[in-house]
Amino acid sequence: MTQIPDVTSPRVLRELLKRHGLQPHKQWGQNFLIDGNIVRKILGLLHTESGDPIIEIGPGAGALTAALACKGADVLAVEIDRGIGAMLGSLLEPFPNVRLLLKDALEINFKDLIAETYPAGAPVKLISNLPYVISGPFMYNLFKEGFPFTCAVLMFQKEVARRLVSGPGDSDYGALSVLSSYFCRGEVLFEVGSNVFWPRPKVGSAVVRLKPKERILGDEEGYFIDMVQGLFRQRRKTILNNMVSYYDLPREKALFLLENASILPGERPERLSVEQFAMLARITYNNHK
Ligand code: SAH
Repeated sequence: MTQIPDVTSPRVLRELLKRHGLQPHKQWGQNFLIDGNIVRKILGLLHTESGDPIIEIGPGAGALTAALACKGADVLAVEIDRGIGAMLGSLLEPFPNVRLLLKDALEINFKDLIAETYPAGAPVKLISNLPYVISGPFMYNLFKEGFPFTCAVLMFQKEVARRLVSGPGDSDYGALSVLSSYFCRGEVLFEVGSNVFWPRPKVGSAVVRLKPKERILGDEEGYFIDMVQGLFRQRRKTILNNMVSYYDLPREKALFLLENASILPGERPERLSVEQFAMLARITYNNHK
């Protein structure tokens, strides 16, 4: 079997970076996994088999990527940092089943990338230890593309993980939670302390699994996504006031739309379910857009 350095060993990792003249970059959220057990646990939860198409965001020094490579997965890894990308490229040279794409993941349309990379209909999975700085915008982009994966196992800062799985009335329920529960069934699988990373981040992380679910909207979906983001702008205000200000509507019109969606005008956005937002989007789309 091909032997590659164990980058989950802090000593090996530091040595490798040094040899390539590299240092962890804070602005790209570089906190590398240095715990082999966590890597195995994450991979186990993704249920990877040889030949499986997998996209990884931010492979860094390759803690997850090397493990996927050894399993024979068909990996496409997207990395923004050219320095670390070059290092990883040479480490993973023995693996023709791994491709590296040096690009900003926020500038990628994943639906297009999947179509260009894998055969039509391939069940592509997503894996990442997501840098905190991009987690929110990255997830919004995925939802705008209709979440084109069959499964995603993602490591986030705990707070983002909670936002992705919370429901109406929870303190961290917001636009991201509504979109996440519209597109996916999500669960927090386990939490990890900051000691499994080098350098150590300030807060703990959690691993989330998202699987796509059947969607209830048709043409109105893009409109719904914008609307959910717009209506949480002032989360302490009533849904009526949010409708009036976001759509620049007369009060009467906003009241009419809410009544048709069976939503009380005095309700706060943070108490509305995904089904209520979907209904409101459908009605507003058909009556106002
Ligand atoms: N997966 C590795 C590294 C995690 S650190 C591990 O678990 O050890 C986060 C990685 O994401 C870094 O390699 C960083 O350079 C990369 N990254 C940060 N922003 C990115 C972006 N916009 N697009 C692609 N990669 C990004």
